[in-house]
Amino acid sequence: MSLIVQKYGGTSVATPELIKRTALRIISMKKKGHDVVVVVSAMGDTTDQLFNLATKITDRPSGRELDMLVSSGERIAMALLSMAINSMGFAAISFTGSQSGIVTDTVHTKARIKDIRSHRVQEELNKGKIVVIAGFQGVSPEHEVTTLGRGGSDTTAVALAYALGAERCEILTDVDGIYTADPRIVPRARKLDVISYDEMLELASSGARVLHTRSVEMAKQCKVLLHVRSSFNQNPGTIVKEEEKQMEELLVRGIAYDDSEAKVTIREVPDRPGVAAKIFGALAQANINVDMIIQNVSDSGTTDMSFTVPESELLQALGSIEKLKNEMEFKDVVADNDIAKVSVVGLGMRSHSGVAAQMFQALAEKGINIEMISTSEIKISCVVRKSEVEDAVKALHKTFELE
Ligand code: ADP
Ligand code: ASP
Ligand code: MG
Repeated sequence: MSLIVQKYGGTSVATPELIKRTALRIISMKKKGHDVVVVVSAMGDTTDQLFNLATKITDRPSGRELDMLVSSGERIAMALLSMAINSMGFAAISFTGSQSGIVTDTVHTKARIKDIRSHRVQEELNKGKIVVIAGFQGVSPEHEVTTLGRGGSDTTAVALAYALGAERCEILTDVDGIYTADPRIVPRARKLDVISYDEMLELASSGARVLHTRSVEMAKQCKVLLHVRSSFNQNPGTIVKEEEKQMEELLVRGIAYDDSEAKVTIREVPDRPGVAAKIFGALAQANINVDMIIQNVSDSGTTDMSFTVPESELLQALGSIEKLKNEMEFKDVVADNDIAKVSVVGLGMRSHSGVAAQMFQALAEKGINIEMISTSEIKISCVVRKSEVEDAVKALHKTFELE
């Protein structure tokens, strides 16, 4: 019998009624003869509320206690969903991440899965049960509860699909699939039937939150077929899979934006070997994810260095830089929260030039100033003012004829 892993996002289990509806959908999959493992997110905006609650206590909670707190959201959802399935006459059992054998590293609030010891899940499947697993969490080798970062339930689902040898991993969400841009910003965005792992990876890491970046990375590595679709209808959704020849024909597959980063500028840094290593070494030491980096031209032996980090890690980043003051001279550090990044992604860029020029032209025509630029083989990103990013997304969506 083939195994399907299904992941339901927070909107699909936001209320008791929706939990019952979701239970029915799971049961219909079981009735078709599949073994079913379900990964579930916290109900509605529970995770936001839990994070908010923490800020009412302190602005610097420890990672360990944050993980204890926010992992509880998924625990509520898994138990209720399992109860709903049981009450409808089908056998189900719920497990936390730890009980499912999801072993992570020790980095609280953004742990990475290192191993899956799925024998307990497999045993319950063998008994014919539907296994409901709390998303976005695991346990470290030190027996501490960890979480995988916002949106991490997608990654739980892919990891389990791989470990259990599932036929596919279905991500059931509140949109019909992957679109050419966030349909909430661009109502005329088009749903894609398929997208390659690499394109999806770039879109996800550029802010398209429909899939957790790490889930796509893992799906690509482990060759897990992903199927993103709505939990509210039976529409066919989007398949994320290995690249095929004709996929290259499209210059730009989609546009993404991310308004959750902040820009840090260190002014008048000495322009000599080893300085960048020191700065970014300190940030890496603190587990801070640095995204874009630019260094200005040197002027009288000093230079300005700018980079972006997640807004949620800004205070920590500034702290790490301040500590360097003893061993390195610089004038000061300035932080800018009002930025956002807009990115265009497509395999076709590998073999075509001119995409960057077209992107800059479209932004210029809207009077949008570009503050930073970075490129990869299949992506171009620009940092702009946060207030202008939605206009930027719309303009680019139009320019690249994605409607
Ligand atoms: P879930 O709770 O099911 O995990 P998320 O809120 O994490 O759902 O992700 C779904 C949301 O992602 C959609 O509601 C949509 O607004 C947003 N999104 C951003 N970019 C895209 C895109 N390119 N295609 C589809 N949805 C997108
Ligand atoms: N509940 C978590 C979040 O909101 C994980 C997830 O939904 O994937 O980030
Ligand atoms: Mg999500």
